[in-house]
Amino acid sequence: DFLAPRASSAQKVILLGDLGVGKTSLRRRWAGGEFPFTADVMEADLAIVRVELKPKPQDATLTIFDTAGLERWGRFRSACHPGYFRRAAGVFVVFDVTCRQSFQHVQHWMYEVDSAVPFCHRVLLGNKADLQNHVVSEEEAQELAEAYGMTYLATSAKSERNLSEALYAMACRLPAPE
Ligand code: GDP
Ligand code: MG
Repeated sequence: DFLAPRASSAQKVILLGDLGVGKTSLRRRWAGGEFPFTADVMEADLAIVRVELKPKPQDATLTIFDTAGLERWGRFRSACHPGYFRRAAGVFVVFDVTCRQSFQHVQHWMYEVDSAVPFCHRVLLGNKADLQNHVVSEEEAQELAEAYGMTYLATSAKSERNLSEALYAMACRLPAPE
């Protein structure tokens, strides 16, 4: 019996959210700074980043998939991009705290998650929290997250607010890699 060794025990995490909320900026931040950078590959339609976490309870390697802007062409549906969702252990649903519409669309993204990867761990991120003109309150966001059983964090790819906390919130709730 010979099984090829697993390429990695990395866990797949996908980014979802409207165009312009800051998904790519978050991914880029996570690829640098205090988190060891392994690879940043621009495929035809995906960008992949590996993030290693050292804190307790365990190290984790997340492979964070970015939509690479495909949501520009209309709603990014799991039916149209099944490979993006396939075997995702976690999802970051991102909205922009200064854009009401991106918050209202969280339900669309949750619908896609429920259809494609119902058992994945979800973390809601209200990004661009560094800006002054918030139109979505912390309370509202918390309430929505609670309704979906998600953790909520207000983040900023600019100021790096809650970026490591977001990775930790994701990594510590993922099942151990196979
Ligand atoms: P994506 O379409 O979701 O991948 O969003 P991008 O990462 O391309 O970001 C869209 C725009 O928002 C860019 O001009 C970013 O510089 C800006 N942006 C992203 N994150 C933040 C943030 O946390 N704060 C601020 N002020 N701007 C941000
Ligand atoms: Mg992008």
